[in-house]
Amino acid sequence: MATNHHSSDPHHSSNHSSDHSSDHSSDHSSDHSSDYGFDHSSDSGMGQLYIVATPIGNLQDISPRAVAVLKRVDRIAAEDTRHSGHLLKQLDINTHCIALHEHNERQFAEKIIQQIKQGSHIALISDAGTPLVSDPGYFLVKLAHEEKIPVTPIPGPSALIAALSAAGVATDRFCFEGFVPSKGGPRKSFYAQRQKEPRTMVFYETPHRIVGSLKDLCEQLGEDRTVVLARELTKTFETIRNDTAKSLLAWVKDDSNQQRGEIVLVVQGYKVVEGDTISEETERTLRILLKDLSLKQAVKLAVDITGEKKKKLYNFALFLKDSQVE
Ligand code: SAM
Repeated sequence: MATNHHSSDPHHSSNHSSDHSSDHSSDHSSDHSSDYGFDHSSDSGMGQLYIVATPIGNLQDISPRAVAVLKRVDRIAAEDTRHSGHLLKQLDINTHCIALHEHNERQFAEKIIQQIKQGSHIALISDAGTPLVSDPGYFLVKLAHEEKIPVTPIPGPSALIAALSAAGVATDRFCFEGFVPSKGGPRKSFYAQRQKEPRTMVFYETPHRIVGSLKDLCEQLGEDRTVVLARELTKTFETIRNDTAKSLLAWVKDDSNQQRGEIVLVVQGYKVVEGDTISEETERTLRILLKDLSLKQAVKLAVDITGEKKKKLYNFALFLKDSQVE
């Protein structure tokens, strides 16, 4: 495991190891409180990679530790240097910024890794929130681990966690599914595939697609499903509404303001309702028919054989097909 070496710099006296097995919770020297965990020296002569979360709207949400690290690294790798330049200026951070272009992330990652190996400390930031959460950075972090380069997260805002924490739906188990597909067909299948997902689901959505998305959600997950729209979090027009899918759709359709800004959808997981389950025999029949027939033909025959409702079998067939369950 890559280890973040102890500092020999007199300004940075804390012991910091990324090997958490060696952490001692009572050892206050390991909480980085004196130097924000920034370690500017290493025995190997290598630098470090810092993954730094930045605000999702409210500038005050940046942590003092994030500011300290961004000020002290040699370079900041940003998703968009112009966008981040604005934030850095407001925070009085003058560190040189380099652009991480999503289309050549692999190439860029190799370059950054070389610089870290030669002793540079680099911080990665995205346009907003936590890098790698529906944002670039994966290749860079993966490569850093392959090269035994210490990777240090500087945690902070993320729309996913902010929405979830305020949604009022179960949070004991949840899954994050990133952006909902943009087009109608794939979007319907996407929701259909998640019909029986028992965990709370979190999706990112865009304002111009929210109405279509909620329509498909109603159709595939049911009008009574609890859905939370979390919009413009931490900003002036922050809106969080917890309602049934049907009511939420009507409200968003009626009020064009709800079709603006940045949006997270938090959706309650599937609850087994009596009479809503598919029997093992029906599922087996449908699976066999789907092997040789089109979805439409398979559903038609399955309805004739089992006497089940067409819509229920159609949705279940979509689910089986999209999840490619054998
Ligand atoms: N890495 C970011 C994070 O940690 O939240 C997410 C980046 S992703 C490219 C951008 C999407 O995140 C937006 O389209 C929206 O769905 C969601 N998002 C970002 N900021 C938001 C905010 N202030 N309120 C609601 N959703 C937000």
